[in-house]
Amino acid sequence: MENLELQDFSSMPQWQPKDNLLQILQEQTGQPISRCYQCKKCSAGCPVSELADLQTSEVIRLIQLGDREKLLASNRIWLCLSCRTCQARCPNAIDTAAIVDVLKQMAVQELKNLGEKNIPVFYNSFLSTVNALGRLYEVGMIGLYKIRTGTYTDDLALGQELLKRGKLKLLPERIQGIKAVRQIFQKGREKG
Ligand code: SF4
Ligand code: SF4
Repeated sequence: MENLELQDFSSMPQWQPKDNLLQILQEQTGQPISRCYQCKKCSAGCPVSELADLQTSEVIRLIQLGDREKLLASNRIWLCLSCRTCQARCPNAIDTAAIVDVLKQMAVQELKNLGEKNIPVFYNSFLSTVNALGRLYEVGMIGLYKIRTGTYTDDLALGQELLKRGKLKLLPERIQGIKAVRQIFQKGREKG
């Protein structure tokens, strides 16, 4: 029998994650990301797994490894539906949707080329109508999105069908408590 004595690894360089992304995200989201042991139950239940370039469990693993670059460039953070199926299936109850929300903010702040460049524009158009009216105004949101992205002819047939079925209201409606909604937006802006 050869080489049965224990090897001495003490002189090897210590592995270090690329940055403190794990600590930052654990603090900001309160999620126990370091407890993930890659059982992949989250990935198996995620409805956007087939469309995304990373699986849910891979997002968590890359955070543990501190691979900020790969995570922020991924389309996965923009495709997440916040359905929280992953959290319900996770033995450690890790809420990936909450983590992904913070990753989206980081991507917008740090990157020029986002994994899905039109999705942040969609979010922004949605929020613009909520800020103006206190609720979603679909036609206004779609108009803003089309102007900002130049995708004027995309989904025309779908839009016509929705109008035909009366699913889109042409005129906007403003809620009574609009002041309170705007204060929420203002507080959000102050917090950056
Ligand atoms: S289900 Fe939870 S523990 Fe399992 S891989 Fe996903 S995040 Fe990690
Ligand atoms: S919350 Fe996001 S990551 Fe989790 S299952 Fe739903 S779409 Fe997938």
